[in-house]
Amino acid sequence: MIKIQNTLSGQKEEFAPRKEGRVNMFVCGPTVYDYIHIGNARTFVFFDVVAKYLRYRGYDVNYIQNITDIDNKIIERAQKAGVDPLEYAKKYSDIFREDMKALDVTSPEYKNATDHIPEVIKQVQTLLNKGNAYVIENDGIYFDLSTFPDYGKLSGRTAGMADDAVSRIDDSDKKRNRGDFALWKHPNSTPPPNGSGNPNVPIRINGEPMWWNKDLGWGRPGWHIEDTTITEKYFGPQYDIHGGGQDLIFPHHEAEVTQQCAAANIKPKDFVKYWMHVAFVVNSVKSSDYHGAGKKQKMSKSLGNFETANELIKKHPKEALRFYLLSAHYRSPLDFSEKALKQAEAGVSRISEFKHKLELAKGGKEKETKNIEKARKEFSKAMDDDFNTPQALSSVFDLIRNLNIYITRDFLDKSSIESLKVFFAEIDSVLGIVPTKQEKIPDEVLKLVETREKLREEKNWPEADKIRAQIEDLGYTIEDTVYGPLVVKK
Ligand code: AMP
Repeated sequence: MIKIQNTLSGQKEEFAPRKEGRVNMFVCGPTVYDYIHIGNARTFVFFDVVAKYLRYRGYDVNYIQNITDIDNKIIERAQKAGVDPLEYAKKYSDIFREDMKALDVTSPEYKNATDHIPEVIKQVQTLLNKGNAYVIENDGIYFDLSTFPDYGKLSGRTAGMADDAVSRIDDSDKKRNRGDFALWKHPNSTPPPNGSGNPNVPIRINGEPMWWNKDLGWGRPGWHIEDTTITEKYFGPQYDIHGGGQDLIFPHHEAEVTQQCAAANIKPKDFVKYWMHVAFVVNSVKSSDYHGAGKKQKMSKSLGNFETANELIKKHPKEALRFYLLSAHYRSPLDFSEKALKQAEAGVSRISEFKHKLELAKGGKEKETKNIEKARKEFSKAMDDDFNTPQALSSVFDLIRNLNIYITRDFLDKSSIESLKVFFAEIDSVLGIVPTKQEKIPDEVLKLVETREKLREEKNWPEADKIRAQIEDLGYTIEDTVYGPLVVKK
């Protein structure tokens, strides 16, 4: 039985999707105004693993992630760069998709906000018709929080505590309640005559993309409305899992609950069944220009303590980056450091080395099922327990530790070797941490290995040991097996 820590109830609950065997899952994607950092990537890699694990457990998973390609930050950056905002967003959206591919995040289907404007308009109209929204002339259409008594059920915050809810585009001194948020934002300057627009084709007003609707007038979507529009379109007003980083619980996810429950006349517990939130990647703030300098803080662009996923992918194998991101439980903060990445690389090398031996093994006499079955059970037990990925990784290493000697000596029979290969393919289909190719060993190291082999044939052990030391200095270890010397990156 899978259990999930549900932010809405504050409890670990047994997982039972609304429709047996089928899971509808949505995760907030990036706002594409820049490269994503490894903190953002943690959230995306983690939910990729959640979707893949649910599929591994036999569920039919429909996993959607939005891409916010219209937003204040995008408009500001694009204007500074002298580029059209939608072109600017397209550039970073393409980079994001490439980064995800490079990290083997293959489970979500991406949906751009700007491809869903008619649906956004429809949801805003519903809220206006039901009396949950109101118009501020020449400003925007806002949700009226006083019409929704369940506000705060997800985050435990109240409408009066909504100061940080007015962050992005929700600013207006004419609002009815402090926490009211924008659903539709009108242009700052005089718009062209009404009726001259096509709802699917935006025009630029003062450089900002604006869409036309006869009821709403010219405008663009607020921050929160795109998500409930997209989920309602593909899942209906009720679905199973909604995820994101912890910073999104308030105000963003609270606003989603508000909008969808008001639009569909449902209670918060009947909207999304399980809310899951990922803790931050934290990193030292180096510059004294920032508050909290010298301390570990949430990795973010605004604190300057970020590492882009794009740069890290160039320097580290994707399996190692995923291993690192999965090495702490998703509800615990994850420290960023080069050392942690090196440790992840070493973990992946160990798996790779073991797998390489499986490929080389010719097969002996011993039959092995007990350890493999135990590892499979332990892996599922860990993942069933609120996706405990560090524990799941441990089950893999326990197996390697228990069977390494048998594999190194080629004792296991062919069927056991096959079962091991199947097990590694299974865990890889979920975690994506098993390298498909052996890492390329530099020629310099291979030459030293050859020289050492000659010295060993000549039984010149002292010289052979010296060469081993040289190999280790270059960052590699050598293991003598029945298959010959195996070289592994330390
Ligand atoms: P944004 O583009 O800022 O909306 O962020 C995209 C996703 O990454 C959201 O789900 C955020 O909650 C998440 N996120 C942002 N910063 C971090 C971090 N330092 N660690 C983990 N997740 C993060």
